[in-house]
Amino acid sequence: MLQRGWLNCNQVVLREKGANVLIDSGYCTHREETLALLAGPGGFSGEPLERLINTHCHSDHMGGNAAVAAAYGCEVIIPEGEVKHVVPWTPQSAWMEQFDQRADPFCHDATLAAGDTFEAGGLEWEAHAAPGHDMDALLFFEPRNRILVSGDALWENGMGFVWPEAGDNSFIDAARAALDHIEALQPAVVIPGHGATFTNVAGALGNARGKLEAFARDPVKNARHVVKVMFVFALLDRQLMRVADVPTYLERVACYGELSERFLHLAPEALAAWLLTDLERAGAITVAAGTVRPTMPA
Ligand SMILES: [Zn+2]
Repeated sequence: MLQRGWLNCNQVVLREKGANVLIDSGYCTHREETLALLAGPGGFSGEPLERLINTHCHSDHMGGNAAVAAAYGCEVIIPEGEVKHVVPWTPQSAWMEQFDQRADPFCHDATLAAGDTFEAGGLEWEAHAAPGHDMDALLFFEPRNRILVSGDALWENGMGFVWPEAGDNSFIDAARAALDHIEALQPAVVIPGHGATFTNVAGALGNARGKLEAFARDPVKNARHVVKVMFVFALLDRQLMRVADVPTYLERVACYGELSERFLHLAPEALAAWLLTDLERAGAITVAAGTVRPTMPA
């Protein structure tokens, strides 16, 4: 695994002579860095790449698809349920415009669905549904060694955000079911979409469930979490933003207005003040000389 940060997902490198496979391609603005890593010893060391497979079609997982496909001439395979989000390609494909995210447009050659199997790295992998963070996401499980490639369905210390709803939340219900499904698979090792590979699966499941239940009980807390995550993501892409520009930014990008209107009830100025104070206190950003910068790696 090529471990990246929080703007780029990790790349899972599955090597097999004449049949190399890559899982997930990172964010588009870091495409050159991704290609350099893939060409290096932790990647394919100059060997051809036959297939690129996505766990889901969010910008941090498919943003580099076009660059990787152009560099290697590989086949691109996406979850069947994601096709509707990326064909035809629009500014809103996989909700990017709504969140101020980008990805280079790409074409897929084939799809994978839950229940399908595929060969990679000399092993046979199963595709399983992993809805919640992305309702159409898949995870990939190798039953002999019990290796799980979890995407954003489970990280060592959490999981990808789950969209808030007042009252019943089908996204949280789906995420709960996905965690139960992971538990039933009994993985020995998890290769996540972000963060380090881990083996304490019970601990990670307990952690993710705890967060999910807190968000289920308190949709406003969940909305705050999503606002913070999306803003830090945008900041990782830009690397800095002027403090004075933050309210206008929050007003311009649709997801913030939507979450504020439904849950937070803060005007852009107040939303910006809360957001920067909270993120700075959490150590996720620094605010100095009128400029906001992220503290974590992209
Ligand atoms: Zn991700």
